[in-house]
Amino acid sequence: MSILTMPAVREAVDALRVSVADLHAELTRNSLVVWTAGNVSARVPGEELLVIKPSGVTYDQLTADVMVVTDFEGRLVEGSHAPSSDTAAAGYVYAHLPEVGGVVHTHSTYATAWCARREPIPCVLTMMADEFGGDIPIGPFAMIGDDSIGRGLVQTLAGTRSKAVLMGGHGPFTVGPDARAAVKTAVMLEDVARTVHVASQLGNPWRLDQADIDRLYDRYQNVYGQKGTPTS
Ligand SMILES: [Zn+2]
Repeated sequence: MSILTMPAVREAVDALRVSVADLHAELTRNSLVVWTAGNVSARVPGEELLVIKPSGVTYDQLTADVMVVTDFEGRLVEGSHAPSSDTAAAGYVYAHLPEVGGVVHTHSTYATAWCARREPIPCVLTMMADEFGGDIPIGPFAMIGDDSIGRGLVQTLAGTRSKAVLMGGHGPFTVGPDARAAVKTAVMLEDVARTVHVASQLGNPWRLDQADIDRLYDRYQNVYGQKGTPTS
């Protein structure tokens, strides 16, 4: 009997199908993706399952019922389409980082340009200190199709406060406690990638002092915003 017939799991999966489908619209609204590239996924709480976009389906066709459910190895559990080619990468992150509830991948232009140069985005703005806690790191170049992207993500995230990783020669991945937070980080990432790129054309942006980065990050993560939703 499938675990999806358990009422609590069924309810959680159905809710995530709706929210993950809706969040894909944020990727197009914020001009982070073209054609069928990019994806949002969410962990099914308490289960070794995730909800993700199917492969090769255009954004205007991404309704709740075409989302797919897979295990953490990327094997299809529910759905009539093949899962996104990034499913194994997302699954590896969920399997190894229990605090992660959402993973987003795009090829957004400015963030991907830093990936192409394999250059971390230096922490030169207060909003970067707030949101990313420092430089946005470069992850290794990794081939698509096995767990090497996932391994590169987990290794890189272990050495940083940033919830975004710029995978070398590929594109950005972001993580968050839920899929919405990971989408927000993807939007913020593209914004700072563009601003720091523009600043770099005109001179050398100044990295903030580490003590100021630490203070800003601590304040934003612990004080700013409404209680209980410190990063939204
Ligand atoms: Zn990609």
